[in-house]
Amino acid sequence: MTAVSGQRPTAADPAVAGQAAEDLRALFWQSIAVFASLRGPAHLVETANPAFFSAIGEERARTGVAIAELMPELAGQGFITLLDQVYRTGEPYTGRDVRVVLGAGPHAREAFFDFTYEPRRDADGAVTGIRVIGVETTQVKHAQRLMAEHRALLEQIARQAPLTEVLDGMARCIENLAPQEILVSVLLADSDGRHLRHGAAPSLPDFYNEAIDGIATGEGVGSCGTAAHRREPVVVTDIATDPFWDDFRDLAGRAGLAACWSTPILARDGGLLGTFAMYHRTPRVPQDTDLALARVFAGTAALAIERHHIEQGKLAAEARAKAAHDELTKAVRAERELRAEAEQRAAAAAELAAQMRAAAAAQAAAPHPEHCQLGGVQGCTAPAEIKIADSWGDSAWGCSVHVEEAILNVRSVFIASEALGGLAAYLNR
Ligand SMILES: [Zn+2]
Repeated sequence: MTAVSGQRPTAADPAVAGQAAEDLRALFWQSIAVFASLRGPAHLVETANPAFFSAIGEERARTGVAIAELMPELAGQGFITLLDQVYRTGEPYTGRDVRVVLGAGPHAREAFFDFTYEPRRDADGAVTGIRVIGVETTQVKHAQRLMAEHRALLEQIARQAPLTEVLDGMARCIENLAPQEILVSVLLADSDGRHLRHGAAPSLPDFYNEAIDGIATGEGVGSCGTAAHRREPVVVTDIATDPFWDDFRDLAGRAGLAACWSTPILARDGGLLGTFAMYHRTPRVPQDTDLALARVFAGTAALAIERHHIEQGKLAAEARAKAAHDELTKAVRAERELRAEAEQRAAAAAELAAQMRAAAAAQAAAPHPEHCQLGGVQGCTAPAEIKIADSWGDSAWGCSVHVEEAILNVRSVFIASEALGGLAAYLNR
């Protein structure tokens, strides 16, 4: 197991943009020219450089055999016919970005080449063979596809597609572009930063995703838990023997996983957003280009997740602002109602006071008891000033305080005043 230590640059740092560009450039591998010299009408391989044999597979590094025998897959793809034609006519042939499937069965691989078939001639100018010169463009092609997919992802993030859609799309894109089978997993950090939740892993089995969902971050918790804890990439090349996988080895075995390289997804402020992992079916050691790929996509995932957090935060803030506004509206309305009620009460009290003053003046001359009769069992020694009555014909004299109290508390009590049409009106009904 190798822990690949990474720096922790932030996306706001110009060095990060530089790193991303450098990573993308690294994905356009060095192209090395392939060369082979063929002899005679059967195109016997006379000489070929190491790059040629490396391209067709080291196990086929032989000379002195016909090219059709060394590479039987070429015949069905029209390349032998082309060689025959160049040999016959003496006219060179040039192809650009030509697709060729090399090898057969499980070892077959798709490759692209820029190449030239050039006739070799003897002193008399007769064609004696063909020189094959080519440059493999497969990596460039893959990198171009990758950059196109990467750009599409950035556009998806920019137009605020749902996070799960972006991450799922990203995982599938990497899986499709990789020359070997890889399975991508994105885990998202909980808000406490101590647990990892399922994010996207379209090709991992459900039982595996469910078992991993919610794992704690920490030293030795698989590749992802450790990478999240260390804030550094963690490369486990063989799950079967790596101590980090002690607790998950059986699970990984059931899912058919043999290697797992995990890269932390970090926010601009260095906070943990999640992990980006590439799983493999067989033990594998990453190449520089694999690590570059992981950095590029961990960076892309960071953009998507941060964008998502900002959106979530905005929605929550909007909800809070709306709730606060609603509360304020409610409070203003309640205050307005209270004030209206208070004004109403004040007006009613003023009106009552005026009525009582008028009644007291009108009734001053009428014979009445000396003291207020409305004091209840405790009695009231205040002078009787106003006569009140109710609709049943009961009447009494009271002080202004008790009269007011009676008018407010006893239904249909009114001031018995001829001036106001009170008791007199009642008696004369
Ligand atoms: Zn009284």
